Amino acid sequence: MLASGRRRAVKYGVTADKVTAQEVHAYWYASKLLACHLCGLSFSTVHPISLDHVEPLSKGGTHTLANFAPAHRWCNTQKGNRPAERYRRGAA
Ligand SMILES: [Zn+2]
Repeated sequence: MLASGRRRAVKYGVTADKVTAQEVHAYWYASKLLACHLCGLSFSTVHPISLDHVEPLSKGGTHTLANFAPAHRWCNTQKGNRPAERYRRGAA
């Protein structure tokens, strides 16, 4: 997941931190960021955590901690390339 994110970051020519998904997850647990930033619900084995780029890479967002947010895989997929702001407004 993160590796492919980095590859996409390199493809788009944006800044990319050399961090692993495990490091990012540990950072979120330490920061108590344990809710999906898109729907506000917590994570579980049924609805696992994934790494979302708040500003999409295709829109010039960076692959850095500052641009990462925890999101459900499902929410992340639904959001696609839209900025998180637009997804939240669209989601009821
Ligand atoms: Zn969610």
